[in-house]
Amino acid sequence: MTSFAFHTTPRIVFAAGASADVASHLRIQPKDRLLIVTDATILALGLAQPAIASLQAAGADITVFGEVEADPSLRTLLSAVEMARENDVNHVLGFGGGSSLDVAKLVALLAGSNENLDEAWGVGNAKGPRLKLTLIPTTAGTGSEVTPVSIITVGGHEKRGVSSPLILPDVALLDPDLTLGLPPHVTAATGIDAMVHAIEAYASKNPNNNPLSRALAVEALRLLGSNIETAVFNGHDKAARSAMLLGSMLAGQAFANSPVAAVHALAYPIGGTFHIPHGLSNALVLPHVLRYNAADSANGAAALYATLAAHTFADMDVTGGTQLICNSFIDRLAGLSAQLGLQTRLRDVGIGESDLAMMATDAMKQGRLLVNNPREVTEADALAIYGMAW
Ligand SMILES: [Zn+2]
Repeated sequence: MTSFAFHTTPRIVFAAGASADVASHLRIQPKDRLLIVTDATILALGLAQPAIASLQAAGADITVFGEVEADPSLRTLLSAVEMARENDVNHVLGFGGGSSLDVAKLVALLAGSNENLDEAWGVGNAKGPRLKLTLIPTTAGTGSEVTPVSIITVGGHEKRGVSSPLILPDVALLDPDLTLGLPPHVTAATGIDAMVHAIEAYASKNPNNNPLSRALAVEALRLLGSNIETAVFNGHDKAARSAMLLGSMLAGQAFANSPVAAVHALAYPIGGTFHIPHGLSNALVLPHVLRYNAADSANGAAALYATLAAHTFADMDVTGGTQLICNSFIDRLAGLSAQLGLQTRLRDVGIGESDLAMMATDAMKQGRLLVNNPREVTEADALAIYGMAW
């Protein structure tokens, strides 16, 4: 018998240009006091200006925290919380890539209660209540607007996470126009990250892997696989940008309820130690982890990957046996990174062969992800996979 639980953001608004009309979508009142959590690039580009103007026109009080960095630190989070408290805000609006959205989630939690963050880390430990929370993504990849997770870098390079349905936002507002100016390498890396979310969710060994997540993953891969090239090479194609943002959100809903596995576990040491962007870290290990999983026929991963092949790449020849289709799917994914202009080997991003052992040790700390992998990964296996990826 199927049994599962499924959580997602209760209200999702998806419309080109919606961010310029955010006040009416959020039913903002003159008494509202908002903290906008974003980064310096977004502010410099003026990307948040139409949203800010809309909120001000509705009479709301706006404070902007514009200092979120990639792999946001605990210090950044705490300064944003302080700003929220000083200005007595009642609504936190995250505006940006996954980092800004992750910080916004925890600002809403910590400024809304006097919760001790040290007790909130981990799965299901947050207590709340939190402030009103709205998330507006400006990249198509993390799906953070529909995931109950926030990842913060503590003490230099340790990644810690809070996972709780409590930090799902009240509203996710998706405006594909915000993604039109993303540079090709960011579009490529974040797009592949979204594809990894869908692939790992679909094949996740997690007991909550469920039919909703699998259906969402299939549709996500159809949208992402058929639009990623156009979005990378013709960034102003509105239809492709819209499909990528929708695909990334559907993949987010899928993995929020059927969690990711060894690709992400092996990607984290690459991002944490070498400051390689999350999407590229995933792309670097993706084909090697899938090959490792598919090599053991007992776990069923090869058949699942073969099922995804035709959904992801409509032009793929899927006439052979399962193993053959699975292999072609993985080769096609490996080729996609190169075709989109991403680096494809760990050595290309400044990682030395002598770094691999430490990375394998680090990857073992991602036990919460490794348990979801279709095939068990030991430290020696992780080292061998990194060796293939090097
Ligand atoms: Zn990811």
